[in-house]
Amino acid sequence: MTEPRTVLVTGANRGIGRAIAERFVAAGDRVATIYRGGDLPEGVVGAIADVTDTAAVDAAFTEIEAQLGPVEVLVANAGVTKDQLLMRMTDEEFEQVIDVNLTGTFRCVRRASKGMIRLRRGRIVLISSVVGLYGGAGQVNYAASKAALVGMARSITRELGGRGITANVVAPGFIETAMTDALPAERQAQYKASIPAGRFAQPEEVAGVVHFLASDEAAYVSGAVVPVDGGLGMGH
Ligand code: NDP
Repeated sequence: MTEPRTVLVTGANRGIGRAIAERFVAAGDRVATIYRGGDLPEGVVGAIADVTDTAAVDAAFTEIEAQLGPVEVLVANAGVTKDQLLMRMTDEEFEQVIDVNLTGTFRCVRRASKGMIRLRRGRIVLISSVVGLYGGAGQVNYAASKAALVGMARSITRELGGRGITANVVAPGFIETAMTDALPAERQAQYKASIPAGRFAQPEEVAGVVHFLASDEAAYVSGAVVPVDGGLGMGH
């Protein structure tokens, strides 16, 4: 059993983020979240912030670190979709998705890195998507935001890898959350037919992989893209 660490998961009020936070709580860590509202799993300390607001993110980190100590594990999970065909996609639809999924992740990683550099250890896990490398019709904004996280994690690895800090990307396929519930039934059936595993996954199946990447066992894994997609994106 390792010493409890301070773990920050963005968007732990629901979906995959909630399952990730619960996984770390179950392992005995001190778990916090930056979230916009809603209820939190038991044992999770919350600070309200929108990840599109730099000052709010910095203040939320300060509030959490005052209570729980420096963040040693950051899981950047908060994300949105705003699907639209390329020809019809507005600047706003493109920019809003980038602002949450990419720049929001950058804001959190930048703030978390200060404490990690001082500690000389840290684990950064960025939640991307199979769509980032596989592409998705109607998802130019989302796919671009998620693909960019690979370059971000690899740059962090090059910059901070010598200080005991790792940065990895987890690329989930179809996970049963509000994001996939919103898909029409026949689209869901089509997707399931193209997934070698023949099913969507539960959020807990992503949480276990994130937990491993944050563990001591994964100290030599950095800059990796780990798919959790039932084989959907193989070869990417
Ligand atoms: P949900 O829509 O269920 O949850 C999204 C989470 O992100 C919520 O907690 C939401 O908060 C939070 N969030 C969104 N925008 C902001 C913001 N501006 N500031 C702070 N928090 C924000 O999605 P999932 O759980 O399915 O997805 C989690 C992550 O996994 C996302 O990054 C998503 O892209 C990725 N993913 C999901 C897949 C799936 O099949 N479900 C597949 C591949 C990747 P609020 O409740 O306030 O809206």
